[in-house]
Amino acid sequence: MNPFRFQNPTALYYGKGQIEQFLASEVTQYGRRVLLVYGGGSIKRSGLYDKVNHILNEAGVTIFELSGVEPNPRLTTVHKGIDICRTENIDLILAVGGGSVLDCSKAIAMGVKYDGDVWDIYQRRAKATGALPLGTILTLAATGSEMNSGGVITNWETKEKLGGGSPYTFPKFSFCDPENTYSVPRDQTIYGTCDMLAHCFEHYFHPTRHTPLQQHLIEAVIKTIVENAKAAIDNPNDYDARETLMYCSTMALNGMINMGIQGDWACHAIEHEISAIYDIPHGGGLAIVFPHWMDYNKNVNPSRFASLATNVFGVDASGKSTDELADIAIAKVREFYKEIGAPQRLADYDIGDDQLDRMASQAVRFGEIGNFKKLNKDDVYAILKASL
Ligand code: NAP
Ligand code: FE
Repeated sequence: MNPFRFQNPTALYYGKGQIEQFLASEVTQYGRRVLLVYGGGSIKRSGLYDKVNHILNEAGVTIFELSGVEPNPRLTTVHKGIDICRTENIDLILAVGGGSVLDCSKAIAMGVKYDGDVWDIYQRRAKATGALPLGTILTLAATGSEMNSGGVITNWETKEKLGGGSPYTFPKFSFCDPENTYSVPRDQTIYGTCDMLAHCFEHYFHPTRHTPLQQHLIEAVIKTIVENAKAAIDNPNDYDARETLMYCSTMALNGMINMGIQGDWACHAIEHEISAIYDIPHGGGLAIVFPHWMDYNKNVNPSRFASLATNVFGVDASGKSTDELADIAIAKVREFYKEIGAPQRLADYDIGDDQLDRMASQAVRFGEIGNFKKLNKDDVYAILKASL
């Protein structure tokens, strides 16, 4: 494995009753002026908004609000949040929602402390210089944003979607109560499943030598997602399935299963170009692109794909070549996406070939992407074309 330094400072509260018991004390250690950030209203319909307001009011907290954070959160909304934090002298940002609300809050937190446009950080022209403290209450199992320092922001004017982060943007605390995901609609549960699975695949397909434990840890998370997704999709109030998926999504991207390996991340870069232009759900885009990326790259290291077939999907290897097993693995991945009802082609979102060139160029704007295999513009174009 590669040399590494690991530190994850987020205090994680998992399960029922934790918000009632610990939210007030976590929040008030940072101050009493809080910016509550949320999305389009799901937290009002579920009752979580009232619950959080009640707890914070009782604790003597003054609440300011930024609502309407978009799925695929936009830079304009981040700017609004930065303005509120500066004029109202906010002590802590409390993000209540899915990955979009959390990512928007991370950008606000960094932007408040940065002397310039926070977009510079996403464009890799500058580094964060600090961040306001941020806490989260997660309502959708998908991104892992509750326990990592990254976030993805869309500049809708320039049609760019870029990831960024800093050591300052780990949430100070995150509350993950599976019951808060009961109300997640079927399609978003599917997209969330595809996203957490994609995070595992991004780690799994890496070029780093000798990583036996990491391989098995990642396989365990993939297997658990595959075994539990259908139950959560078909029965939204299945506590055990919701809990398991939520824990998988956190573990898939909090740094624990991929220490010392250099993940691939090309599919995320490609998907960001699709949603930057067409504003499609991130998980949906990943489900479309990943099998084609796998077809394109299986010859780089067929035995990695073969391990996926045997260790995750339980395929009997006897009498089969490594190449055959690799093909079976990719077929199994496709089968799983199909079984849970994930989108299969860009055409499912009415996306044609007219922007392929632009997406391929933008995906490599900082240079070649991917680590399992370095991809240039032509490679990305070929994968996108196969995804049509
Ligand atoms: P999301 O965009 O946060 O939310 C999607 C939709 O689900 C929204 O309409 C939201 O409604 C709704 N929703 C959320 N929780 C709900 C609940 N409990 N009940 C009912 N509806 C609910 O979805 P996401 O997949 O979590 O986040 C996607 C974003 O994260 C993308 O921009 C993606 O690129 C990014 N991402 C980040 C990371 C990271 O590490 N930071 C990793 C991968 C992807 P409301 O708006 O009304 O709440
Ligand atoms: Fe993702």
